[in-house]
Amino acid sequence: MASLAEQLKLDLVLRYQNLELEVSEEIYLSGVTTLFGPSGAGKSTLLRVVAGIERSALGQITYMGIPWLDSKTGLFVPPHKRAVAMVFQDTQLFPHLTVAGNLNYGYRRRNRRCGPEWSEVTEALDLDPLLDRDVDALSGGERQRVALGRSLLAAPRLLLLDEPLAALDAARKAEIMPYLKRVIAEFDLPIIYVTHSKLEVRLLASRVLALVNGKVVRGNESLDGARHSEHSCIRASVVGLECPGLAVCKVGEGVMLAEMQGKHAVGTEVELVIERSSMLLFAGEGGNALAAGKLDGVVSSIDRSTDGTLLHVTMSTAGGELVANLHRSSWIERQLAINDAMQVVISKPAVVSYSL
Ligand code: ADP
Repeated sequence: MASLAEQLKLDLVLRYQNLELEVSEEIYLSGVTTLFGPSGAGKSTLLRVVAGIERSALGQITYMGIPWLDSKTGLFVPPHKRAVAMVFQDTQLFPHLTVAGNLNYGYRRRNRRCGPEWSEVTEALDLDPLLDRDVDALSGGERQRVALGRSLLAAPRLLLLDEPLAALDAARKAEIMPYLKRVIAEFDLPIIYVTHSKLEVRLLASRVLALVNGKVVRGNESLDGARHSEHSCIRASVVGLECPGLAVCKVGEGVMLAEMQGKHAVGTEVELVIERSSMLLFAGEGGNALAAGKLDGVVSSIDRSTDGTLLHVTMSTAGGELVANLHRSSWIERQLAINDAMQVVISKPAVVSYSL
């Protein structure tokens, strides 16, 4: 359980003509929390309430123990004092300013001493070559990188991303994905990420909050594909196409099927995302002929999960390290030892994250 100092506590009610938003939730503030659900579920509204842009919600918001909203006492902390930055689908860049001007807008308005430096942000998002450009002359993906950069330079405590990829085509989505992953990895910033895309949840989420008709839902089977947030990433090369949208990839001598969001030509080096719970390990040749992939690897570490139910087995493969989450059994613990060569059998296709 997260301590108060690590939580965003929401206890909110808001009524529009066609939405009854009722959320009582404690969101752990680290990594990426995806707010996932169908269109009209109230995701963007909830994000605007957290940002303080939407003022009609009743209830309480507490950020790391600090009250931001208490409608009983009339407390309302305005958006700039919350130090929250928001990135929208349509970027909302200033058209009369250059890229540098837009970035500087965020930088000059930071009201905290800490926060990433200009060069850290422009390097992470490859913005230096764009600085003198007019924002009208940018592609959709470049605009999103600038919008992300402007938000980071405002030194937020919390970054709210509202469907940042929804307006982009598949190729542009694949282009911006590595930048998003870099922002998540390099800037120690909690992110709430609104999306209705299961793929984005699988690629980015540390945890998922599913919203349907204004309420948080749990155990909804239609969302299961989005719930497996634990994954490993390895390098592979595309060697063929099984059917439209499904690539055949090679990892060393191993072969693996992978869903593609954009087009990745044969010969392209890509990053694959593999669900940790979709892997099984075999000492010899793995059985299941219908498996989505089989790779060779060597056990490099074995750890137990904190609740003792799983074994996290790290395997060195030709594409990098993979972690398999296996249910513990005395059999598997007897079989596995460091430096053992094993075959990793993967039950469902990986997802191509982006071209390397
Ligand atoms: P989502 O982000 O999940 O697609 P939204 O939060 O954008 O959902 O919208 C949820 C519902 O609330 C929609 O039916 C929308 O029409 C309605 N809504 C959103 N903003 C307002 C508003 N300011 N006034 C009245 N209704 C609104």
